[in-house]
Amino acid sequence: MALKFAKRMDNMKASEIRELLALTAKPEIISFAGGLPAPELFPVKEWKEAVNKVLDERGQQALQYGPTEGYEPLRKHIVQRMNKVGVKDAKPDDFLILSGSQQGLDFMAKAFIDPGDQIIVESPTYLGALNAFKAYEPSFLEVELDDNGMKMDQLEDRLKNNDRVKFIYVISDFQNPSGKTWTMDRREKLIELANKYDVAILEDNPYGELRFEGEIQPSLKSLDTEGRVVFMGTFSKVFSPGIRLGWFCAAPEILDKFNKIKQGADLQTSTISQMELAQWLDDNDLEAHIQKIIDVYGKRKNVMVDAMKEYFPEGVTFTNPEGGLFLWVELPDYMNARDLAVKAIDKKVAYVPGGAFFADNIRENCFRCNYSCMDEEKIVEGVKRLAEVIKAEMK
Ligand code: PMP
Repeated sequence: MALKFAKRMDNMKASEIRELLALTAKPEIISFAGGLPAPELFPVKEWKEAVNKVLDERGQQALQYGPTEGYEPLRKHIVQRMNKVGVKDAKPDDFLILSGSQQGLDFMAKAFIDPGDQIIVESPTYLGALNAFKAYEPSFLEVELDDNGMKMDQLEDRLKNNDRVKFIYVISDFQNPSGKTWTMDRREKLIELANKYDVAILEDNPYGELRFEGEIQPSLKSLDTEGRVVFMGTFSKVFSPGIRLGWFCAAPEILDKFNKIKQGADLQTSTISQMELAQWLDDNDLEAHIQKIIDVYGKRKNVMVDAMKEYFPEGVTFTNPEGGLFLWVELPDYMNARDLAVKAIDKKVAYVPGGAFFADNIRENCFRCNYSCMDEEKIVEGVKRLAEVIKAEMK
């Protein structure tokens, strides 16, 4: 048998790091490789109450089809989420509810990309976005990050005399994988360049509300002067990823395209899941819940950074994020974090090698560490083990 799969499948290779990560699931391994929210913070009891209420009071509606754009009471709640990131005038009609924001990555590329079109991405960027985009056969143009966001001269170079770029993909707050956050200047400059060169922006913002210190930065959407920013939010990190609920906030012209795509993909996001979340939000205080998450993750991040400061050798640098779930370690140039990962697993500690987060110009001397999902003692022990592995490779 020789089944004739589509050419696009050639671009969708299984990641070789998956095998490596499979090893990290063993209980004796301290794994900084995951990206999971802390499960002990999920409000299971209150969720059960919301579920019972929905089923008791509106069970038949909950088990029925619903509108493509999403359950209106939930869209009303999302107005507050957008408010938090500086979008003060959003209305329920500006949203499309998604089955997780990962679905939005697929929809964005589906709406904008023909084979050979270009997407500008941060370098490094979210691995799951690269994989979702690749199905539509784009090429990627990378722009390096410094501590303030994308390097704007590089970005303008990529945009100048180039009509193949369809959109710029940005995770402006506590980026996955680097933990970096764009400054206000860079945000404004990005909007200016997108206007000048007439391209769309996809703002992927799962972590913005999980800020440990300082003020939440205004989202790119709040600075959007021409309706070219597509904002993508999710309840995965501020509530739970298992309910699979995210959203787009975009101009009507773009939302109309996404609605058509949504109908082809899955008609609508689960009615019952949306109704349960809307009920939970009616009866509980999400702000207080987010504060609990911030307190726990903020402490864990500090513990990880302090341990790295104490145990990592000179020549190894790491980011110190003001929020989110991840930090990024840079080793000396001559080291390869992929090779090192195998040695780390021998010492029963794991991370994600950085190479997977680059679209093209792959750098192998870096890796991502997650701190949200592990108690503080284990974080210190894991960093100590990592430090030993790194020290053995230092020249
Ligand atoms: N974007 C980024 C940057 C992410 O880190 C993630 C999840 N790890 C997603 C999108 C997808 O999240 P979800 O589908 O759970 O909303």
